[in-house]
Amino acid sequence: METFDVVVVGGGPGGSSTATFLADGGLRVALFERERFPRFHVGESLMPATMLLLEELGAKAAIEERGFQVKYGASFIDEENDDATQTFYFLPGQPWPNYSYQVPRADFDAVLLDHAKKRGVTVYQPATVEGTEFDAGGVTVTASAEDRPVRARAAMLVDATGRDALMASRYGRRRRIPNLGKVALFAHFKGAARRSGLEEGNIRVYVFRDGWFWWIPLAGDVTSVGAICHARTAKEWTGDPDGLLDAMIARCRGVSENLAGAARVTPVYRVANFSYDNSPVVGDRFVAVGDAIAFVDPIFSGGVYIALRSGQLASVAIRDAFRAGDFSARRFADYERRVRAGLDPLFKFIHKYYEPSFFDLLMRPRNHFGIYEAVLNVLSGGNWVTMPWRVRAALRILYGIARINAWVRRRAGLPVESRLEW
Ligand SMILES: Cc1cc2nc3c(=O)[nH]c(=O)nc-3n(C[C@H](O)[C@H](O)[C@H](O)COP(=O)(O)OP(=O)(O)OC[C@H]3O[C@@H](n4cnc5c(N)ncnc54)[C@H](O)[C@@H]3O)c2cc1C
Repeated sequence: METFDVVVVGGGPGGSSTATFLADGGLRVALFERERFPRFHVGESLMPATMLLLEELGAKAAIEERGFQVKYGASFIDEENDDATQTFYFLPGQPWPNYSYQVPRADFDAVLLDHAKKRGVTVYQPATVEGTEFDAGGVTVTASAEDRPVRARAAMLVDATGRDALMASRYGRRRRIPNLGKVALFAHFKGAARRSGLEEGNIRVYVFRDGWFWWIPLAGDVTSVGAICHARTAKEWTGDPDGLLDAMIARCRGVSENLAGAARVTPVYRVANFSYDNSPVVGDRFVAVGDAIAFVDPIFSGGVYIALRSGQLASVAIRDAFRAGDFSARRFADYERRVRAGLDPLFKFIHKYYEPSFFDLLMRPRNHFGIYEAVLNVLSGGNWVTMPWRVRAALRILYGIARINAWVRRRAGLPVESRLEW
């Protein structure tokens, strides 16, 4: 049996970043990844603050060399309201750059995992972790790697298994977030209409009667198109997922017009019920990172950033634990608190987004009281880096105006309930 300081389970952005940061800190790290890379994965649009973490990982140059599509902003198009359009461009002069990338995750995740190997991480792949046995002195992990079993021993385990959430599924609880019973259907297309200049790489969000679409332009004339529809719509559909995606495209003017003449180049993928909050996030000799903790909704493209940021915070906590020789859950409570403090403003913003009274404001932002800057802080992932008092105050004002707007809408007989109830 091989012995390491830390075993990381999962080789997505959460796992590869945690492993790299730990190896950089001088720890012996093993990482187990179930799939052979490159493999398709959802989650292609990155927040600008991601660039800070890629730099800290030492992986920025390797990512930049890949020639991914640059993204300067996000456009929201409301087809329910005469195609009202609002584009947000990331602001220059922030602690993070005013751009990020649109990445096929097959490539992006492979670059980050290769980088981890180069930094000294021992990677077992394809290798599925099937058993974890904790005792007073450490953890023993059992995995099946192709046709042979592998066992590894370490002082700490990092659960970076994404939606599978190894530890919460075995020893804890997976709480579904009410009213977020949604289904995502997505695929890649070639030959879709392309914008030029700064706008070329913008993510577009088309809001339509049955939900919303993402439109993510990737390099090489590929476009990622995904529909988020209510579980009810998917349940009522009796055909196959390909047909349901086609039907959704046909119902969304902007997407169907821009896809005229394009060809689908991947299967149609489907993810359902993707909103949850897991526990425990930390325990004696383990911490969870990324999607293994929680995921709410992809509307603001925060998942990869959260995976990398939690990976960085987890590595700091684990390195401290090694220094102190103490791997108890108590030691990792501060890590959990910091992760929750980063997630809360984003999750609140996501919930607000689905309220018509707030969505109205987002589509017509006025830069009174620094509101525009505050919105962009959240859309950039900046709230984990710096959340100055004026940004907090501006968000409070924005939520206050949304409450007044809800009152006005109610009096005018307009809908006020959250679109999460669709
Ligand atoms: C519909 C949808 C759209 C999204 N769009 C975006 C977006 O535009 N931008 C964005 O930033 N985020 C987006 N996300 C979120 C994003 O996909 C995730 O947040 C991100 O991939 C989390 O990274 P992770 O490393 O935690 O998990 P993952 O990337 O899922 O990696 C987990 C890895 O663990 C491996 N694994 C699992 N179990 C085991 C095991 N037992 N043994 C070994 N290996 C195992 C898996 O094979 C996988 O490679 C979206 C999510 C959804 C559902």
